[in-house]
Amino acid sequence: MALNLFNTLSRSVQPFTPLDPSGQRVGMYCCGPTVYDYAHIGNWRTFVFADLVRRTLEFSGYTVQHVMNITDVEDKIIKRVRENKTTLREFTGKFETAFLDDLKALGCREPHRKPRATEHIPEIIALIKKLVARGVAYQAADGSVYFSIEKYRGCGCCYGQLLKLNLDEMRAGERVASDEYEKESVADFALWKAFVPEDGDVTWDSPWGKGRPGWHIECSAMSIKALGETFDLHLGGEDLKFPHHEDEIAQSEGATGKPFVKFWLHGAHLLVEGKKMSKSLGNFFTLRDLLAKGFTGREVRYLLLTAHYRETFNFTLDGLTGAKTALGRIDECVAKLRELAANIPSLNVTPHLLSEHSHLKLFTYALHDDLNISAAWGVIFDWVRDTNKRIAENSISPIDALTALLAWEKMDSVLGIGAKAEAEVPAEIAALAEERTAAKKAKDFKRADAIRDELKAKGWVIEDTPKGIKFKKL
Ligand code: AMP
Ligand code: ZN
Repeated sequence: MALNLFNTLSRSVQPFTPLDPSGQRVGMYCCGPTVYDYAHIGNWRTFVFADLVRRTLEFSGYTVQHVMNITDVEDKIIKRVRENKTTLREFTGKFETAFLDDLKALGCREPHRKPRATEHIPEIIALIKKLVARGVAYQAADGSVYFSIEKYRGCGCCYGQLLKLNLDEMRAGERVASDEYEKESVADFALWKAFVPEDGDVTWDSPWGKGRPGWHIECSAMSIKALGETFDLHLGGEDLKFPHHEDEIAQSEGATGKPFVKFWLHGAHLLVEGKKMSKSLGNFFTLRDLLAKGFTGREVRYLLLTAHYRETFNFTLDGLTGAKTALGRIDECVAKLRELAANIPSLNVTPHLLSEHSHLKLFTYALHDDLNISAAWGVIFDWVRDTNKRIAENSISPIDALTALLAWEKMDSVLGIGAKAEAEVPAEIAALAEERTAAKKAKDFKRADAIRDELKAKGWVIEDTPKGIKFKKL
């Protein structure tokens, strides 16, 4: 089965085919962070979802050009810069660095390009100029430039491609200056915002006087520059469908006269303990908050990847504890396979043998079904169960173990969980273990047991195997 994805544009699941005539290259744009604070766990659900899409495309053999912008100028940022009495670059730089560190901690592949809005002012101005020249944008008395929905529709273009809008009640020429607004207040939106004293130093020259770009035009300009006037995939959280993505479509198609994006994918939101996250409810978490509680990025990633991207996900701290246990099962199984396959060169596993691996086939089938991740995890845990059973029955040959291991690595190229590296055994622990072996040899079992307890208290369990002592970190 080919890769099928739910396209918000058609409101249906469609087979994915790239625009590239050779069927190889895929351009993918995901709206990036607005760098005015640390990203919260809801934001991370969306970015981990984008990583899943990219990894699935790569797993399916495509060459992906992944672009994620950095929104480093918009209404909220300017407000915070003013409140913090700092400069735009200093303020956004701090949160951009934190964002990229967190992205790594969550095991996300780094986007190939991370354009910043402030470094694309000429492209933004050029795009607005095109819209003005085509008669779908105008400068209003307040000095700002707005996009005219009426003129755009008058050219036969459709405003409201991602969701149904009631445009009959809209009064022509009514304007909305802020970047964020509800669909009930759909109106001409700002492309270029004329300078106001509250903007401080955050201002650029333009043919319409001093000012700064609106948020929506930033993404149109950066995505077109990086991926061309028409590209394959555009992603974001579901809250971005309106107005952000609808406005991106209008600006881009209004300027180029070409379809903007072939596939729009939207990730559903995340709730925490059943409620919308908010600082006042005390259920607001950044990744850093969770790391400080002793969880790992890998556990958070696993949990965020357990639900289908189009379902609202309820994030809980209990869920994170469960993630630790689930990952422990995978790690244990993978470690046993590594041991069994230790001396076999991977050359012994032919691509044919690997492609015949039944779990890998089922896993691929699940992913290609609109990223059915719950079914994919079902396959992984069936695989863990079967493998453990075969190991316990001694019925797994080294070559089977290696094939299973390579199949896991292929599946993990999508999940990005990795298997936990063997913890390094500290010298003190190794010395205690040796002392215990000596005590056992001398038939001093009381001393041997006492050492075992001491090791356990220090967080280590040891196992006597025919190949020697095996250490396990608790
Ligand atoms: P922002 O930095 O506010 O522009 O948001 C970055 C991304 O996070 C956007 O794609 C939003 O749609 C997404 N997002 C914001 N809140 C949530 C949430 N609670 N659950 C999932 N995604 C979210
Ligand atoms: Zn965007």
